[in-house]
Amino acid sequence: MEPVTAADEVVGICRDLLRIDTSNTGDPRTTVGERVAAEYVAAQLTEVGIEVELHESAPRRANLVARIPGRDRSRGALLVHGHLDVVPADASEWSVPPFSGEEKDGYLWGRGAIDMKDFDAMMLAVVRDWQRTGVVPPRDIVLAFTADEEAGMEYGSQYLVREHADLLEGCTEAIGEVGGFSYTINDDLRLYLVETAEKGIDWLRLHARGRPGHGSFVHDDNAVTALAEAVAAVGRHKFPMVVTPTVRAFLEQVSEALGIEIDPDEPELAIAKLGPIAALIGATVRNTANPTRLEAGYKDNVIPGKASATIDCRTLPGQAENFLEQLRDVIGPDIEIEHLQQQPAVETGFDGALVDAMGAALRAEDPGARAVPYMLSGGTDAKAFSTLGIRCFGFAPLKLPADLNFSALFHGVDERVPVEGLQFGVRVLDRLLKAS
Ligand SMILES: [Zn+2]
Repeated sequence: MEPVTAADEVVGICRDLLRIDTSNTGDPRTTVGERVAAEYVAAQLTEVGIEVELHESAPRRANLVARIPGRDRSRGALLVHGHLDVVPADASEWSVPPFSGEEKDGYLWGRGAIDMKDFDAMMLAVVRDWQRTGVVPPRDIVLAFTADEEAGMEYGSQYLVREHADLLEGCTEAIGEVGGFSYTINDDLRLYLVETAEKGIDWLRLHARGRPGHGSFVHDDNAVTALAEAVAAVGRHKFPMVVTPTVRAFLEQVSEALGIEIDPDEPELAIAKLGPIAALIGATVRNTANPTRLEAGYKDNVIPGKASATIDCRTLPGQAENFLEQLRDVIGPDIEIEHLQQQPAVETGFDGALVDAMGAALRAEDPGARAVPYMLSGGTDAKAFSTLGIRCFGFAPLKLPADLNFSALFHGVDERVPVEGLQFGVRVLDRLLKAS
């Protein structure tokens, strides 16, 4: 019998993971699948002799950590992490049942196929292969499989960092989502976007207060009117453009690859031409503030004394305070700001031995590969891990068909991962971890 390789195994492992419904509804009563997935992961690791630690932050909210000792234990460890939860899927919208892990047309279909059970499966396939063949990595590798990435990370990476930082001791660098996927320029050139920065999260509630009263009177101090004016002003405001080092490097590389001039004062014109990945990149040149919820009043003919709105704000690295000053100018002095959740932006340089090894691993499997840094406008577990001083990268390698609208698959209908891309990813990950 042929020996089992990581590329053989990764598809079956990914399929198994896709068949475990780990929907994270945001409600602890209905978020129950992570434990099943963590037990599956534990079984895959213990079967080949890797010890695991499984920790629940709350009933069934399971997180799993394993350390693979490296040859040089004095070096900083590399954290390789993936979340096990997924966003819910409405089966009526899908072409296949979203938790079937069906394979057809060269893809594995299912919720989590790219976010991010694909990478979870790659991690498992690589280290299982190593255990069978006696590969010892150059330095310690810490594997972390987390809960709750899709609903604030409180029960997952934040919990691990808060309660079990000892398991992550010595980790200096990390790889996880969202990066390492290809963007095809032409047959001979594919950009692989490596995430080196993430915007910060600042979820705010705006409160307006006024004089309550009868809806039939002349009334010049109406909380609803004041709030509506502030919300409209925020929603329409374009915050000033700030090109950070990551975005500058991205634009330079893209302009070189595409052979087009990108006006550094008008990068949005160039970004708009990037097709599907414009959605990923578009929000990384400014702070943004999107109104998402409104609340006021309790009766049609009563003017309420207060009104509130939630604003989803995303801030560029180093911009959090500046942003609040700008926001204050937009909403005026009378609106009160309440902070619901704040997570800082993160940014690291696109340099060093690990970054070089990413480029080399990609080129070894795809001669047309060029690794470029980029900033994610959303947030990942990297936010929590970076608070421990870990340099975090999004590098979950995937070679994608040129015509696949990859960014639309995130949390999207018919989420799927190309089987060949998955096997490519496992080979790149294997090379990277052996060289890092
Ligand atoms: Zn994800």
